Amino acid sequence: MTPAGRPAGRQSIAYVFPVYNEAGNVELLHRTVCQVTDVLADRYDFTFVYVDDGSTDDSATRLQALADADHRVTVIELARNFGHQTAVTAGLDLVDADAVIVMDSDLQDPPRVSLELIAKWRQGYEVVYAQRRSRRDTTFKRVTASAFYWVLRKIASVDIPRDTGDFRLLDRKVVDELRKFRERDRFLRGLVSYIGFRQTGVLFDRDERHAGTTGYPLGKMLRLAANGLLGFSVTPLRLISRLGYGISLLSFLGILYTVGVKVLAPETAVPGWAFTAIAMFFLSGVQITMQGVLGSYIGRTYAEAQGRPLYTVSSVRTGLHQRTPVQA
Ligand code: UDP
Ligand code: MG
Repeated sequence: MTPAGRPAGRQSIAYVFPVYNEAGNVELLHRTVCQVTDVLADRYDFTFVYVDDGSTDDSATRLQALADADHRVTVIELARNFGHQTAVTAGLDLVDADAVIVMDSDLQDPPRVSLELIAKWRQGYEVVYAQRRSRRDTTFKRVTASAFYWVLRKIASVDIPRDTGDFRLLDRKVVDELRKFRERDRFLRGLVSYIGFRQTGVLFDRDERHAGTTGYPLGKMLRLAANGLLGFSVTPLRLISRLGYGISLLSFLGILYTVGVKVLAPETAVPGWAFTAIAMFFLSGVQITMQGVLGSYIGRTYAEAQGRPLYTVSSVRTGLHQRTPVQA
């Protein structure tokens, strides 16, 4: 489909930045984003939404200072740390703009690339994701990330573009749709793929984190990977039953063999306990693993059944004006 192109006119574009302990980054980030967006200031109204995801460092004060100095800044303060995906969700829930750009606040996503996202949006695309041509992460992160995307693309029920993070532009229509998805253990890039619309990518080179340390230690990374896999695929459940069938078939062949030997050649006894013990341990391991997989899905169902709000907000400040907290 050829995108129709967007009519020229004054439209609004909002940036959403999840912030978790980024005191060393937010000022430079804001300065850089302002410089970059100034180029288009005659055509678009820009706003900047910073979601403070329960930072324990100086981030809150620094964000407040940004809001005091720039009326286009909104600071949403979550009541505790809810995690990156939820922080982005809170920003998307509150924002009101024709297009929203989601970007990390550690300057790993270069602000100038957002201009390319906007250019594609003007051509008529409703989702423009930034795709990493290269990334300056540790070898461990690169290897695990590429293994994760490989598995995800094999088994997920939606086509999630590889090497994309949450750095992307979403049209208002997409944001409106996304707001209807209230599932808890979120994998936003999966949801965005699921929603559809005209999507395209822009290649970019991912920079190193400017200051501070990653808010995504191994544990959080694994949880995000699990949310991606469990949230968009029931293949693990299918694999469980297939493995079960396979093992049952093997055991059946084993029984036939044992009985056959007993009847046809009783002098060659099938030797004993070592095999039995190993098979027992192996099968217990397989069973426990399978129960773990089942448990993961049941756990997600339980969390959904509780129906708790996704996050709690302690304050929303726009410029110097205080607003009442919104409901998640
Ligand atoms: N982040 C967040 N909540 C968290 C962890 C991270 O809002 O619990 C933010 C963080 O401030 C950054 C973005 O999510 O803007 C990506 O996190 P980070 O850079 O630490 O992850 P990495 O780039 O190392 O994968
Ligand atoms: Mg980062």
